[in-house]
Amino acid sequence: VPELPEVETIVRGLRATVLRKTFLAIDVLREDLLATPRATFVRALSRRTISGVDRRGKNVVFTLTKSNGTAGGVLVVNLGMSGRLLRVERGRTSPLATHPGVRFALTDGSTLLYHDIRRFGRLSIADLDQYERWAASMGPEPLSSGFTSARLAWGLSRSSSRVHSWLLDQKRIAGIGNIYASEALFRARVHPGKRANELSPDEARRLHRAIRAVLADAVRSGGTTFRDYRTTEGEKGTYARALRVYARAGQRCTRCLGIIDRMVLGGRSAFYCPECQPSPDEAP
Ligand SMILES: [Zn+2]
Repeated sequence: VPELPEVETIVRGLRATVLRKTFLAIDVLREDLLATPRATFVRALSRRTISGVDRRGKNVVFTLTKSNGTAGGVLVVNLGMSGRLLRVERGRTSPLATHPGVRFALTDGSTLLYHDIRRFGRLSIADLDQYERWAASMGPEPLSSGFTSARLAWGLSRSSSRVHSWLLDQKRIAGIGNIYASEALFRARVHPGKRANELSPDEARRLHRAIRAVLADAVRSGGTTFRDYRTTEGEKGTYARALRVYARAGQRCTRCLGIIDRMVLGGRSAFYCPECQPSPDEAP
């Protein structure tokens, strides 16, 4: 599932290629991917120019401008489990395009393809007010300067959720999923089952540092590819080789002699080292 580093990589790829291009034609091949009725969707995008490409949490946000230069709303793309935004140059076909969902023809002859094998992704159109309200309902961006150690500690102190589940809650912090929650907790040496409001001030500081370090490293590696995730140019991210606990149950910890374990919290898998991240019940 694409998380912050994968979506950030896609956004950077789009900024370098489709910014200031205009949508010429929109071909909806899989209507179930749209959160907006097809006719409204097509009308809202036709002849709109892409004046911005940004990320909010795990979503790609295209800011649009009308041909007369006025604001034209936003297109929000949530990639779901296996969504891709692939750029295909004029006259080319993409060998990766086995499950095209929506084709956006751009005025320079290139195509932006929304591709989704499992079809849990969603594309929606919003006006700026709707978008601002939605964006404000989400937690802070962990790589922004506003996300301080004090802010994290304050957020944790107000919840008795397990810290792994807390990290996955997009209303508390944006962009984190199973992979980076497990990796950040390992680096911070905090057990995933610990209650958020039971982290010590030092643990909260370590977690803040770990979240930022893990996410920034993963962005530099172009994200983590296990199966479906690809960049806009169809390439794989290389962060999988840097993972210390995620999907490594039964293997040796890279820091001690322990064996990585997996537990299920709120229906989601958390990976951790029982030696490096002692259970809160056993902690002194
Ligand atoms: Zn260990």
